[in-house]
Amino acid sequence: MTELSNRTKFWQSQDAEHHLHPFTAHPGLRERGVRMITGAKGVYLEDSEGQKILDGMAGLWCAQIGYGNEEMVQAAAEAMRGLSYYNLFFMTSNPYATELAAKIAEKTPGHINQVLFACSGSEAVDSAYKLVKYYWNLKGQPNRKQFIARERAYHGSTTVAASLSGLTGMHPQFDLPIEGIHHVGPTPHHYKFGGDLSEEEFCDQCVQAVEDKILEIGPENVAAFVGEPVMGAGGMMPPPEGYWPRIEALCRKYGILLWCDEVITGWGRTGEWFGSTYYGIQPDIITMAKGLSSGYQPISAVAMGGDIAHEIAKSDEEMVHGFTYSGHPVACAVALKNIEIMEREGLVGTDEAKARIAYFREKLETLSDHPLVGQIRTVGLLGGIELVKNKETKELFPDELDVGFKCREHCFNNGLVMRHVGNSMILCPPLIITNDEIDELVEKARLALDLTA
Ligand code: PLP
Repeated sequence: MTELSNRTKFWQSQDAEHHLHPFTAHPGLRERGVRMITGAKGVYLEDSEGQKILDGMAGLWCAQIGYGNEEMVQAAAEAMRGLSYYNLFFMTSNPYATELAAKIAEKTPGHINQVLFACSGSEAVDSAYKLVKYYWNLKGQPNRKQFIARERAYHGSTTVAASLSGLTGMHPQFDLPIEGIHHVGPTPHHYKFGGDLSEEEFCDQCVQAVEDKILEIGPENVAAFVGEPVMGAGGMMPPPEGYWPRIEALCRKYGILLWCDEVITGWGRTGEWFGSTYYGIQPDIITMAKGLSSGYQPISAVAMGGDIAHEIAKSDEEMVHGFTYSGHPVACAVALKNIEIMEREGLVGTDEAKARIAYFREKLETLSDHPLVGQIRTVGLLGGIELVKNKETKELFPDELDVGFKCREHCFNNGLVMRHVGNSMILCPPLIITNDEIDELVEKARLALDLTA
């Protein structure tokens, strides 16, 4: 290992002294010191030692159009010059927020036509949770206050969002979850949780478990079912074939709102503009963030179907919810430009985009011959590589070996960002990735697997 430069060492010591990192195991950080990311262009990051790193995670699943896009810089500068800030409270708006709301209504599936802005995915989730409660109060069904979420789901880290999350490790430090949230299992992912069942039988089991939970709570008490179309932070786990339309049918049967948390699956990630379209369903609510601005600005939104927005809008009372930065003009201008770029460059739904997705799948699948690889899975430009000790029995490595973590570190040291959740390695590259860059990604992933084995 070469000696680090003085500026890196300086930053590392300042960081260790003063900076508390989110979602970080601090002993590991103390041991190796923070890696400073100082720049990014296209699909590559650059660290403070000048090393280029292919970002196979699009940051945190968000940089759809890649980094350093000059048009985005211009859009931000122009908006800031004209209207650096104003709020949306008390009957005001700004052209960027209004235009973006209309654009979101155009891109979201079906009857979704009203949008409330927030700044992060977690804020969107908390907002949706409150709006659902408000809706049922307005509808004269105040008993509907119970939410059904899923084991291993991730919905963010504010109090409500973390409570809705079914990753149980997130709860004890903060005395969560709050009341009124029910997590249903099994996690709907056949390879990992289906045991000896066929995919169809496993799907039956997952759907039945949701119906059982509704009946246990009492359908008249259930406000909404919330799920990520493809589970992301829980380990990139697509559902069994036919799962979502059956969940949608259950929601309709019992008059429960269907809420898709599309913070990851929104904005082209699955190959469609939204994951709910990919699975052929019509949610009542979609929460979104990340790809909405490709991460150039913090912005998120709750998009709602007609009845919810209509009930709220026709009420005589003031809706007492919102944020200082809801619909921030600069963030909205940047999101609008991001969507314009995605449309113009044909990043979603075009032949070129479909070919890129097919190439990604084909190349990733070449890794299935590796002794550590139990399953390769993809949906659009989301990829998962399941690490196993035994390919036939799917036996996992013991936790203490931390195989996923080791693989991630080998990737990072060799110029690739690939994330891990336990034994699942995850990929989510920018939608602009080229075939050559996909080749490089897969080559580096194979090297990391070899070094891990
Ligand atoms: N919902 C889902 C599905 C997510 O994947 C995430 C973040 O990864 C969030 C919500 C929270 O978003 P944020 O980190 O912007 O608060």
